Amino acid sequence: MKVLVVGGGGREHALVWKISRSPRVKKIFCAPGNAGIAQLAECVDIKDGNIPALVDLVRREKIDLTVVGPEAPLVAGLVDILEKEGFPVFGPRQRAAEIEGSKVLAKEIMQKYGIPTARYAAFDSARDARDYIREIGAPCVVKADGLAAGKGVIVAEDEQTALAAVESIMEQKVFGAAGSRIVVEERLRGEEASMLAFTDGEHVVPMISSQDHKQVFDGDRGPNTGGMGAYAPAPVLSPAIQQEVMEKIMLPAVRGMAAEDRPYRGVLYAGLMFTEKGPQVLEFNARFGDPETQPIMAMLESDLVDVIQALLAGELHKADLRWFDGAAVCVVLASGGYPGAYQKGEVIAGLESLPENVTAFHAGTAMRGGAFVTAGGRVLGITARADSIPAAIDLAYRGVSRVHFNGMHYRKDIGQKALNR
Ligand code: ATP
Repeated sequence: MKVLVVGGGGREHALVWKISRSPRVKKIFCAPGNAGIAQLAECVDIKDGNIPALVDLVRREKIDLTVVGPEAPLVAGLVDILEKEGFPVFGPRQRAAEIEGSKVLAKEIMQKYGIPTARYAAFDSARDARDYIREIGAPCVVKADGLAAGKGVIVAEDEQTALAAVESIMEQKVFGAAGSRIVVEERLRGEEASMLAFTDGEHVVPMISSQDHKQVFDGDRGPNTGGMGAYAPAPVLSPAIQQEVMEKIMLPAVRGMAAEDRPYRGVLYAGLMFTEKGPQVLEFNARFGDPETQPIMAMLESDLVDVIQALLAGELHKADLRWFDGAAVCVVLASGGYPGAYQKGEVIAGLESLPENVTAFHAGTAMRGGAFVTAGGRVLGITARADSIPAAIDLAYRGVSRVHFNGMHYRKDIGQKALNR
């Protein structure tokens, strides 16, 4: 069969890598892909937001399965269009993807269906939002309603910061229409982890647990990034807690979406915080997380295409979803300056000398004169699988030590939280 993967980051490289191992797959396309993905798939230069061009590609190549990586094409309705034309596609439809595309909707669903989350209020007037912030005081969290490329959340330690966030989101419109409404919520405290699950709209099957590292520096210091590394499984999600998250969060969310006439099919991602009161939802995403998908795909033993096909047939409960024993760790190598302005075009050395069981998933790379060069903020996800978390950490960093580009920086403590438990 012919598969198209939409997107071009580390997440999509991990998906393409896993899909390429399915004996059912003859050819993979990726739009737009990147230089690493190009070693496994035919990359087609179409941006993930260009819905008409993506639909044309599916028609032209008669794609048997489209797998959508990022949120933008989901929220723009790519799945709905392909389904209408009879093309199998993995991902939620537009109305379902709104659980990520609108934080106001996500909070409404959580409130209505009793899913534990921070107390909140939603506003479409900056003046009302300011009055509310003055009433509740700091700390609090201000969130733009719509998609803001991971930058629309401001955790405010003081009232001034919260009020400034309202001004920049609602009045200066730094995120455009995504900031027409905002959520103001209580600041929670605790350790964060993610729970991703496959769902066909009825059955919900959790993936192996994982934990991202959002801040740029060791010890969770410095500004937030797209994610500096991840590992799986995450001991903070013990089997008992996973069960609790399934019962209190994942199942009610999928059932609630169905009851709201937003049947949810695809990957549901819950960003969680483990507070004194138990797990609470920070956000829902309508897709695989990045970088979590890199260790998750490294740990997936089953054929991903089989799992997706069972899901699309509404028979996810019959899918054979198996995970390797042990653990996987992904260390992100970032460009100098990231998450601020960064250099591009630096030559990447050492990729050919990675140890066994280490894979370099490419995020922001390009090919220039036969060499890989940097082309984004997050450049590579060096991902290792081994028998235990300490062994996977060790192996991943041995992989990292082989790779070099000017300005390269990375966290040295990926996975330490698991060891500290
Ligand atoms: P992503 O890039 O993960 O999609 P996003 O812009 O959708 O990010 P969230 O994940 O909702 O934003 O929030 C980003 C970060 O802000 C969280 O990882 C968490 O650290 C922090 N955060 C969000 N809500 C709260 C809260 N209520 N209390 C404390 N911290 C919070």
